[in-house]
Amino acid sequence: MGGATPTADLRSDTLTRPTSAMRAAMVDAPVGDDVYAEDPTVAALEERVAALLGHEAALFMPTGSMANQIGLRLHAGPGTEVISDHLAHVLRAELGAAAAFSGITTRSWVAERGRLDVETALAVMVPDGGAYQVGTACVVVENTHNFGGGTVQPLEEMRRLREGTRAAGVGVHLDGARLWNAHVATGVALADYGACADTVSVCLSKGLGAPVGSVLAASADQIAQARVLRKRMGGGMRQVGLLAAAGRHALEHQLERLAEDHRRTAQVARALGAAAPDVVDPAQVHTNILVLDVAAAGWSAAGFVAAAGERGVLGYPTDARHARFVWHLDIDDTMTQHAEDVLLDLLRRGGAAS
Ligand SMILES: *Cc1c(COP(=O)(O)O)cnc(C)c1O
Repeated sequence: MGGATPTADLRSDTLTRPTSAMRAAMVDAPVGDDVYAEDPTVAALEERVAALLGHEAALFMPTGSMANQIGLRLHAGPGTEVISDHLAHVLRAELGAAAAFSGITTRSWVAERGRLDVETALAVMVPDGGAYQVGTACVVVENTHNFGGGTVQPLEEMRRLREGTRAAGVGVHLDGARLWNAHVATGVALADYGACADTVSVCLSKGLGAPVGSVLAASADQIAQARVLRKRMGGGMRQVGLLAAAGRHALEHQLERLAEDHRRTAQVARALGAAAPDVVDPAQVHTNILVLDVAAAGWSAAGFVAAAGERGVLGYPTDARHARFVWHLDIDDTMTQHAEDVLLDLLRRGGAAS
């Protein structure tokens, strides 16, 4: 970054580029054909993630969407349903994959900031639909919650959902694309979160900083089925230890540093919240995602994002009212300060003209 005005690209934590240490780890990785289950680096990554999440087995996938959709397919099939909150990534941002690939229908409820609402989830669930109603195969919990603004789901609530669904014979899938952030923010062990679901997906390519990859963890039987589903969907990869090596490196060297992203996000949330309390409540900013209700300051989300972008702070309008800014590995303190200054100035000016 040269010059007086650094660009802070806060559109997403998927934007991270591999560090040189990560690239070196990729070059040196031993590999084999992973469709034959002969890639030792992939196997090591899968074992590590399964152990971290407290599950029997795991499977490396090219994307989080595939890990989620195969996870759902392990629970549900044509003519059954999956339920979650209205902002859930699996319902909103995977292009209808559950319906398009698996014949699964979905229902949802409105959840403030994506926060898990166990009573509503259990009330919406239909464990035995009989000959009239669609039967619920699975409830999806997202932790942290992306479009909710990086919301951490309380462990106690996840446990209550697990108990209520288990009693009814309904499965739980945890979309843990950013479960790493929840773990670092709260100190709750990954395995404690993992114990609250039958199937868990995690992303290596968000804040952890790997270029590609997600992992699905579940029972050994489910992962054997998932291996078939992955190949059927075109996700059987060959000498992919090169990519798994990046994931292993990220878990070893770039997990704990997520606390830095959280610290920087909290700094900006406090500054903006002090000036514009209707736009953001810093107490609700739990991790690395800052969602601003810019409409409360008279801006349209698109107008606000465009104005910030002109001054080198890139964000993303999640709907007409809300602009999202996400901290990650490639954002340092200088860029954070620049983002704080620009966003504060725009909120103070107000967006009557936008
Ligand atoms: C990013 C993300 C995914 C997976 O996205 P891909 O782009 O398919 O890897 C899944 N769930 C959540 C909550 C996400 O933020």
